[in-house]
Amino acid sequence: MDKNQQYILAQRPIGMPDEHSLKLQDSALPEPGEGQALLKTIYLSLDPYMRGRMNDAASYAKSVELGEVMGGQTISEVVVSNSPAVSAGDYVLSSNGWQRYAVANADTLVKLDPAQAPISTGVGVLGMPGFTAYVGLLQFGQPKQGDTVVVSAAAGAVGQVVGQIAKMRGCRVVGVAGAPDKCDHVVREYGFDVCVNYKDDDFEAQLAKACPDGIDIYFENVGGRVFDAVMTLVNDFARIPVCGRIAHYNQTSLPEGPDRLVPFMGKILVKRLMLRGFIQSDHLEHLADFRRDMSQWIRDGKIHYQEDIVDGLENTVSAFQGLLQGKNRGKMLVRVAPDPTR
Ligand code: NDP
Repeated sequence: MDKNQQYILAQRPIGMPDEHSLKLQDSALPEPGEGQALLKTIYLSLDPYMRGRMNDAASYAKSVELGEVMGGQTISEVVVSNSPAVSAGDYVLSSNGWQRYAVANADTLVKLDPAQAPISTGVGVLGMPGFTAYVGLLQFGQPKQGDTVVVSAAAGAVGQVVGQIAKMRGCRVVGVAGAPDKCDHVVREYGFDVCVNYKDDDFEAQLAKACPDGIDIYFENVGGRVFDAVMTLVNDFARIPVCGRIAHYNQTSLPEGPDRLVPFMGKILVKRLMLRGFIQSDHLEHLADFRRDMSQWIRDGKIHYQEDIVDGLENTVSAFQGLLQGKNRGKMLVRVAPDPTR
């Protein structure tokens, strides 16, 4: 433990981020002040929203500045504590970003109990992505028994949880994913009724066949071709929680073609659709309910989850590129240091 290593945002990426935009560099080990703790990163969470933070564009959260450490949630071990709030050896949820060590104010840390759940789940099924699924589906999808729910990025961190909660609510659940093994997995492991691959030539026909009674809820994670296909199948009063648009995150210009805003607005009116953009962090009043329900569902075997763990901080950029290309299988994590609890 003599030096730190961190990824800084060296250039704003145009299209796919790479080693020119994100540079790994050595730095001095930070020293904790009064009320602070020195943290060692065990897991770094990789999430699609990070792509937006690399841009210099107005959004719901501040961009990372050039020269700053790339941000992100982490599961860390407390190495030194100058606060009674945490002790050396504790495992905590923090926001250390893409680096091996960081100093944080101890009162911002959330302690994790490895006896209750694997600590990695604090950034996955029991953390931000799980909460996103919970709040997005239940608050804005408003699922009812017998509804047909379509979930895109179905095999991912958010999608896998959305589908399983919708099944618990008595819905018919149709997943959309980008690989045959992902489709098999969501049906076999998470109990989706069916899953279709949006990369198949006849995807639109497959989706129509999978939704013989139309679509009541579309949990929108991707945009692009999937969104277009869904819009042809929506029922009157369908609800569309708009969670993410990952197909567009690396785009540098608008797609070619006619302006489709007029027919789109017409469809919203005629079908009386409810599209609702949401950001999970605006809805923290549901966090306590989420933690209670999700812990119970996992204990009862009602929610299953898959993690995709890449070893080594130096592999973070390629892992993030993979996430934006659908190479991940479940919640994407980088194991920066060995997990002593596993
Ligand atoms: P995932 O674990 O689902 O990983 C991303 C997946 O997106 C990839 O595996 C890939 O799966 C799919 N994907 C990538 N490129 C495309 C593309 N061009 N077209 C269609 N699918 C693509 O990520 P998360 O579950 O963490 O995030 C899912 C979505 O939720 C993202 O859009 C994210 O931004 C959003 N989100 C929103 C939050 C909010 O508060 N609103 C909070 C958290 C996440 P495949 O093989 O199926 O293509």
